[in-house]
Amino acid sequence: MTFRTRFAPSPTGPLHLGHAYSAIIAHDMARAAGGEFLLRMEDTDLQRAKPEWDAAIVEDLTWLGLTWDGPILRQSEHLTQYDAYLDRFEAMGLLYPCSCSRADIRAAVSAPQEGVSHDVYPGTCKQRSMASRKAGDALRLHMDRALAQLQGRTVAFQETGETYKGQHAIDADKALQDIGDVVLSRKGEEIIAYFLASALDDVHQGITHVVRGEDLFDFTPLQVMLLRLLEQPVPVYHHHRLIRDDAGKRLAKRDDARAISKYRSEGATPQDIRRMVGLT
Ligand SMILES: [Zn+2]
Repeated sequence: MTFRTRFAPSPTGPLHLGHAYSAIIAHDMARAAGGEFLLRMEDTDLQRAKPEWDAAIVEDLTWLGLTWDGPILRQSEHLTQYDAYLDRFEAMGLLYPCSCSRADIRAAVSAPQEGVSHDVYPGTCKQRSMASRKAGDALRLHMDRALAQLQGRTVAFQETGETYKGQHAIDADKALQDIGDVVLSRKGEEIIAYFLASALDDVHQGITHVVRGEDLFDFTPLQVMLLRLLEQPVPVYHHHRLIRDDAGKRLAKRDDARAISKYRSEGATPQDIRRMVGLT
């Protein structure tokens, strides 16, 4: 079996110890397997992604001694390709437009509903047809229909990371209750949802193994569902532990105190960085 993995940072801040750990693990796994390691910039957040962060990340990864195969894939350079997939979901009858504001959604779920997470959309716009879509509407996944279309098909993934190791099957009741009708596209803001773009690009880049932090584990069932709906291959997942600060909190995106560039300027070596994240 070929082994192809990737590191997929968002160029919205400096590369810190947590990112370095993730990149090194993915890189080392690929090299140990005689496989490939790809680099992808997840820059669909057009407001926050900046070319200077992109350049800084490339510089830090190079300094760390990591090498990647092929050109860097930047999501912002192929945004129109995502539309083709959204069109497919639409043709399958799995999308509906939604004009609810965050406040609308909060009001609709204000009556405590047992077992319903506050992040799960209450379904206010569920009866709307795509023909009623207005400029500025988001597109939501009709989860009930998606599950109906997946019935009888295997929707599962293999996990090789320590914490969640094993085979995971996606449970329909849990998907309804915990995931619900997620937003797949929001014009003007985030053109395509992070989790969808990421899963589609894993397909696009032929990724066989997704190596990433445990904080993204909860996205996996949804991503696997979306891939199965599109009849695309499901990769093996490897969710690694997170690098935490001294207080046990996971490193934030903008934790400049732990930026690789800061350690570099203080004279640290790539070997020091590996030691700091427990990789020697
Ligand atoms: Zn709505």
